[in-house]
Amino acid sequence: MDASHPAIIVGAGFTGLFTALHLRHQHDLRSILLIDPQERFVFKPMLYELLTGELSEDTVCPTYQVLLQSYDIQFVQDSVTKIDLSQQHLTLASGSGYTYEHLVLAVGSIQGYLGTEGAREHAFAFRTRENAIALKRHAWECLQRASQTKDEAQRRSLLTFAIVGAGPTGVEMAATLADLLPSWYVKFGGNAREIRIVLINHGKTILAEDVNEGLKEQALHALRTRVVPVELILGVGVKAVDVDHLEYQPASSPEIKKLLTQTTIWTAGTAVNPLIQSLASQITESRLDKHGLPLVTPTLQLLDFPTVFAAGDCADVQSQHQPALAQVAYQQGASIAHNLIALAKGASPRPAQVSLRGTLMKLGMGNGVANLFGKVQITGKPADLIRSVTYLELLPTPLHDFKSTTDWLKEETFHRYHRPRVGLETITKPPLSAAEKRVRSRVKALAIVTPVVFLIAAYFGLRTPPSEQLKPPPPLVTQTKP
Ligand SMILES: Cc1cc2nc3c(=O)[nH]c(=O)nc-3n(C[C@H](O)[C@H](O)[C@H](O)COP(=O)(O)OP(=O)(O)OC[C@H]3O[C@@H](n4cnc5c(N)ncnc54)[C@H](O)[C@@H]3O)c2cc1C
Repeated sequence: MDASHPAIIVGAGFTGLFTALHLRHQHDLRSILLIDPQERFVFKPMLYELLTGELSEDTVCPTYQVLLQSYDIQFVQDSVTKIDLSQQHLTLASGSGYTYEHLVLAVGSIQGYLGTEGAREHAFAFRTRENAIALKRHAWECLQRASQTKDEAQRRSLLTFAIVGAGPTGVEMAATLADLLPSWYVKFGGNAREIRIVLINHGKTILAEDVNEGLKEQALHALRTRVVPVELILGVGVKAVDVDHLEYQPASSPEIKKLLTQTTIWTAGTAVNPLIQSLASQITESRLDKHGLPLVTPTLQLLDFPTVFAAGDCADVQSQHQPALAQVAYQQGASIAHNLIALAKGASPRPAQVSLRGTLMKLGMGNGVANLFGKVQITGKPADLIRSVTYLELLPTPLHDFKSTTDWLKEETFHRYHRPRVGLETITKPPLSAAEKRVRSRVKALAIVTPVVFLIAAYFGLRTPPSEQLKPPPPLVTQTKP
């Protein structure tokens, strides 16, 4: 017989995991079932650090076992394949079934390929731990093979890395690879200047219509000044992707052009999660947005099914569209927890309070840009420090947070990860004059002082407000009779 649960959360990403943790943090005692097919949480904004080796796998993708060890939350590693909204029942891939009193839908989105021929089969996606590991292995192999081949055409295609989509993921990826790959290639004895990083975009500008649009100039500057400058091909449509090339067409011309590359990384577009798609027959069309996402009320409940909450990348708030961001999903998780508790007490749920506290981008290794409250912009190493500390503080559970921060500080202090300057600087830069050395030492001094100042400012600006912070649950107090 199927089990019954008061609260089931489907998807343990930013929305789902933080809904569960906030429920426990607020001492809600109902039993919570959290379902996700993966063994590990994926901290997507820091997936680049897994690719580069700047952070460990356990920091970027901690196991749910570790994350939930201090919390009384039942985790089921499985995938939900079917939901009957009227019967309040769901079915798992393993065949088990559950009925629920309240359901939280938090399954996120999946990679979309805009119907581009061969993209799903031949391009690398960058959304999961497995994606990051596969791309890392492939890039390493390409560089190794390039360093061994005498065939020039073959070497050029091995050393060309194409990134499709100049939204934040494409820009961050291009900037990161443009620093990372040269440092790897010189280890194989290769000439790093042969590497091409090509960022291809349909629109004529990068970061168009994105919350990071205001950071466009800083991003363009960063792309131009990486160890290998990033080439931009803008205003073109990618028509097809194959193992050794991609084809694109400029908007103004019928001519199809070919870029020989053995690595296409696809970051353009997302698609609706199949589980959400499967609900289309149960949700009236007018209750879906133009992308097919279910509309939810400001309290994050499905319009015709108030026992179901949905948020993050898998839902759209009616008349209050929110960008698909981890910081939005995290805050919506806190609101859902609050509303579940309100409903249990017979109170009314309240509209979710979501505020964008700023945006942070990785623009190469040890380089970034931080936009604090749309008012202050910080670039370079200080911005990278702010980004790392802000994100590491967000990572679930204070125990993990502390460990990650100290691990990361250790890396920073001892410079153990691949430095992009190694090898190339000696190839490309002439020796410094005495005046240049003086300037450089002043810049270095500033570079030490400013991060400290900005870190303090950013800590108080961007950090999660104390009211939203997760603390470990209090120890159980057993009352003994005198
Ligand atoms: C490379 C990259 C970089 C990013 N950088 C930033 C950034 O710098 N700042 C920012 O704010 N945002 C960033 N984002 C966006 C951010 O990560 C997402 O907006 C956020 O993860 C959405 O949270 P979510 O809970 O909706 O979905 P997710 O975090 O994607 O979680 C969905 C969960 O549902 C699970 N799931 C899926 N299907 C099922 C099923 N059928 N049954 C059960 N479970 C299921 C998945 O395994 C997953 O764990 C980035 C995204 C990417 C890909």
